[in-house]
Amino acid sequence: MTDQIQTVYLNGKFMPIEQAYVPVLDRGFIFGDGVYEVIPVYSRRPFRLPEHLRRLQHSLDGIRLKNPHTDEVWADLFEQLIARNEGEDQYLYLHITRGVAKRDHAFPVNVPPTIFMMSSPLVTPPEALRATGVAAVSALDNRWLRCDIKAIALLPNVLLRQLAIDAGAAETLLLRDGFLTEGAASNIFVVANNTLLAPPKTHLMLPGITYDVILELAAAHGIPHQVREITEQEVRTAQELWQTSSTREVVPITTLDGKPVGNGKPGPLFHKMYALYQDYKRAVRAGGV
Ligand code: PMP
Repeated sequence: MTDQIQTVYLNGKFMPIEQAYVPVLDRGFIFGDGVYEVIPVYSRRPFRLPEHLRRLQHSLDGIRLKNPHTDEVWADLFEQLIARNEGEDQYLYLHITRGVAKRDHAFPVNVPPTIFMMSSPLVTPPEALRATGVAAVSALDNRWLRCDIKAIALLPNVLLRQLAIDAGAAETLLLRDGFLTEGAASNIFVVANNTLLAPPKTHLMLPGITYDVILELAAAHGIPHQVREITEQEVRTAQELWQTSSTREVVPITTLDGKPVGNGKPGPLFHKMYALYQDYKRAVRAGGV
């Protein structure tokens, strides 16, 4: 940010972030009882808005919280928030909790949800990363069994990602019962036998919007790809590993647990996919997609 005051949205009002307060009895604070979304904004337009709103609905259904707005109202609120903030490219963060109530696990009755949104300038990974890639570590996926819900209760993800930070790495790859699920804050793709592999969307991973883009681009451009379970052995002997997310797009992972992935450099399929992703973004900006 420059010195412009960031404008956020809280429960029906736009305000400077310094004025946005939530009561301590908010169930988001007390229980982590809520869901969120992160939507990239290119040239001031939300990217894949229907898909993000569909995933939001899936998360809300998963925690049995009524969607407070129609898609049209959400779209209008996003437009207002984007207009009030800096940057042609932004990332919009939306957070809904089960509201403020006396501390009790049971759902409160007739309590309005807390709705919070902010939007910050979107900074995509620096170009140098494409030359070197990033390091990753691996860990057992010890999260719950509803990782398809974009829950604000991120303590397991925070602890898992910190393992990477402590090791000077960028991401932690998660393995459950001998299979790859995803990263602590991203989806993971594997290249083996010159084929792009992606774990299937199940309750064990977040259905990434970027994950969908990557698979669509692979299909559209004749890149051999398969969606199937990926073994730990396949991860450890991969030609290439990539991480994907809305803010990082696609980033090559060049070491895993201190050992080189493939030849230790970003691979040819990564470079191809990166170029396709940038072309696709240009088309999105031009309004052609
Ligand atoms: N998995 C997890 C656990 C995440 O937190 C994220 C987003 N940061 C993703 C996958 C990627 O999802 P998306 O492409 O929609 O950003």
